[in-house]
Amino acid sequence: MIITLKKTADASEVKALLEDLEGRSLQITQIVGENYDVFGLVGDTASIDERSLLANPIVYNVQRVAQPYKLANRMFHPEDTIVDVCGIPVGGRKIVMIAGPCAVEGKENVCRIAGEVLEAGADMLRGGAYKPRTSPYAFQGMGTEGIECLKAAKDKTGLPIVSELMSIDKLDEFVENVDVIQIGARNMQNFDLLKAVGRTNKPVLLKRGLANTIEEWIMAAEYIMSEGNPNVIFCERGIRTFEKYTRNTLDLSVIPILKERTHLPIIIDPSHAAGDYRLVESLSLAAIAAGADGLIIEVHDDPIHAASDGAQSLKPDKYADLVAKGRAIAKVIGRTL
Ligand code: PEP
Ligand code: MN
Repeated sequence: MIITLKKTADASEVKALLEDLEGRSLQITQIVGENYDVFGLVGDTASIDERSLLANPIVYNVQRVAQPYKLANRMFHPEDTIVDVCGIPVGGRKIVMIAGPCAVEGKENVCRIAGEVLEAGADMLRGGAYKPRTSPYAFQGMGTEGIECLKAAKDKTGLPIVSELMSIDKLDEFVENVDVIQIGARNMQNFDLLKAVGRTNKPVLLKRGLANTIEEWIMAAEYIMSEGNPNVIFCERGIRTFEKYTRNTLDLSVIPILKERTHLPIIIDPSHAAGDYRLVESLSLAAIAAGADGLIIEVHDDPIHAASDGAQSLKPDKYADLVAKGRAIAKVIGRTL
């Protein structure tokens, strides 16, 4: 960390700041310049709050050299993390395909769709039992009954279940019944929820917030990992921009960036990015080509009557086409699907 001090600072103020910092077992080098003085801090600066340093009137600028995340940082963990989901490796050579309806709508419904996506080549089943809807008047999900429907679909197909947890009071239900706990975009910075899933050892699918930076997202992963759970899978689902022709803007640059900076798997959700089923195949193929470790895609066999997100849901036959094309691209880049 580099702290630039104003030349106008008097010696006693500089000494007081130095004494504050010296309590933290850091190596501190002081450079006296013509216009500014500089402190160079080497060591574990993760717990130093830049903003409170800036509150000191003698401080002109604070710059971090090291990243604020440690556990998610590839520098300290060079090999890729592979998250095991019921024996399915996420983050390995095989690109993992997760598919299913936005919301669980009933036992027969989700069991039928599960059978269809399995046949098309899916490895896991998605389905929301608790839904974070913008309107309180929209379908809110089936709750516990929805979780039971997902379990029935798992019994029928063997597909592990991915479902969104919205509140800590349902954590036990999820630990018992769900294979991957999804933290939705709207909860990416719900720090208590992140800490709670961090105290389990369940795989966590951590979606990027609607308007969050990559660093904020990695710090959210750090929250989970710092509580002891290393099984974090990132999921990009598009961010909010000025563009109106898509529901969100899919940021595929996160794939090489996260691969470089972290060791965790990254999967892509083209459905919530696009908001339109017509775009889902292109975005999916681009994500595979760019090195994604998996795709989570909304599939419904009657999108017109879907309880939520019908417009962005693929019909099973279109999903099967996408899987076939995805396989061809995966082969080109030395992966399987
Ligand atoms: C979902 O997966 O259905 C969902 C609500 O996603 P997001 O949190 O990305 O909006
Ligand atoms: Mn949805």
